[in-house]
Amino acid sequence: MGYKSLFDYAVNELKYSEGQASRRIQAMRLIKDLPVIEAKIADGTLSLSNVQQAQNFFRNLQIAEPRNVIRPQDKLDVLAQLENKSVRDAQKKLAEINSIQAMPKERERVITETAIEVKFVMTDKLKTKLDDARALLGPKGAQMSYAELFESLTDLSLEALEKKRFGQKRIEAEKKAGAAEALSIAEKQNHLPKKSAVLAASKVKVQQTKINTANEKSNARYISADLKRQIWKRDRGQCVQCHSKHNVQYDHVIPVAMGGLSRLDNLRLLCFHCNQRASEKIFGLRKSTVRPGLCVDSSPHSPARGDPCLE
Ligand SMILES: [Zn+2]
Repeated sequence: MGYKSLFDYAVNELKYSEGQASRRIQAMRLIKDLPVIEAKIADGTLSLSNVQQAQNFFRNLQIAEPRNVIRPQDKLDVLAQLENKSVRDAQKKLAEINSIQAMPKERERVITETAIEVKFVMTDKLKTKLDDARALLGPKGAQMSYAELFESLTDLSLEALEKKRFGQKRIEAEKKAGAAEALSIAEKQNHLPKKSAVLAASKVKVQQTKINTANEKSNARYISADLKRQIWKRDRGQCVQCHSKHNVQYDHVIPVAMGGLSRLDNLRLLCFHCNQRASEKIFGLRKSTVRPGLCVDSSPHSPARGDPCLE
């Protein structure tokens, strides 16, 4: 037809202004991608200007993250938010979506043997909390770099978290639960009426030993909080095979099913993947696939239902 491009044709043959031509061409391209929007453009729900804005928005996203393909449904979701909006309101909406999507992902980069660069976005809420913590640390806090501040706060958290996980309170709570069980068994064994239950408490210590043995027999997988702390300390909170600290689990070296005991010398920390491999080695691939190590009970040693099993 003698025109260099569709744009050239639209301007010179169809007599559109340059703006009109480019809006129509962009809309056509988007309709080719997403045929369902044609009706919305035709009835005016989506203005050509907003379609053009959306197109530019998608293109810029693609340039920023070339490896991220924007799915048609994501495009439709964005377009749905531009329906019946003025150009200005649509602009605002896109800026809002952009600020969420443009949030850089967290990154870790090893710089030297002993230094790792970590990049992440902080919300203003976290920033305020950090500033508050800095203030509470006094003049020392004010001088700290972010790295120093994080180290100082992490030391405090580690103490608190260790207590929460293996601390006296937890051990006492476990003992209490054991004692309550012992008490009720003592009641039954001695045929004591409820009122006299307190008297039976004096016998609890003796009973407790029996109960513990009974527990060990009835639930050989049981690992007390105290034992868990010993394993955790010895293995330094990491997988003994790959040294990962992610998703670490208590593992019986000789499985309970093969007579392994819940003792320090038969327990170790393994990450989920090493644990999977270990059980595949022992039980064979088949069993491991059938039972992917997800916890189905919620006994005291176990994580929440559905989480990887701590054994
Ligand atoms: Zn591992």
